[in-house]
Amino acid sequence: MAIERTLSIIKPDAVEKNSIGGVLALIEGAGLKVKALKMMHLSRPQAQGFYAVHKDRPFFGELVDFMTRSPVVVIALEGENAVARYRDVMGATDPKKAAEGTIRKAFGANIGENACHGSDAKETAAVEIAYFFPGFEIG
Ligand code: ADP
Ligand code: MG
Repeated sequence: MAIERTLSIIKPDAVEKNSIGGVLALIEGAGLKVKALKMMHLSRPQAQGFYAVHKDRPFFGELVDFMTRSPVVVIALEGENAVARYRDVMGATDPKKAAEGTIRKAFGANIGENACHGSDAKETAAVEIAYFFPGFEIG
């Protein structure tokens, strides 16, 4: 299987609940390697740009409000089949539908405040990692 990279964000709700360590434990426990990591408080343009694909969805304003209300932790992960593997670690978008042992089951509150982001494909992962990490911040 191919070694891939994917982008994870620990969202404001999980950071507020002191769950950075809990989320990282599940990520590292799944064998994914942290390649780069930083905490940042997203501006509205940064959040809008990151979620531009959702700009016409009814929840876009709510999503930008949420993602900018307090700091997030942005993480580039690497491992075999990392994109799909991390989607499995996150669980379903709606925490109510997420499997036991997943990040969203453990730390998510609802479909909007669901503790974490993960890229949905190898191509979007490359774009999302480059959005947050310039070359000198990631090996
Ligand atoms: P995922 O994060 O699982 O890839 P999406 O890409 O569909 O899910 O949505 C991006 C984010 O937008 C979700 O993680 C969640 O924070 C928010 N979101 C998605 N659907 C809704 C909804 N129906 N109501 C409110 N927020 C939503
Ligand atoms: Mg998505």
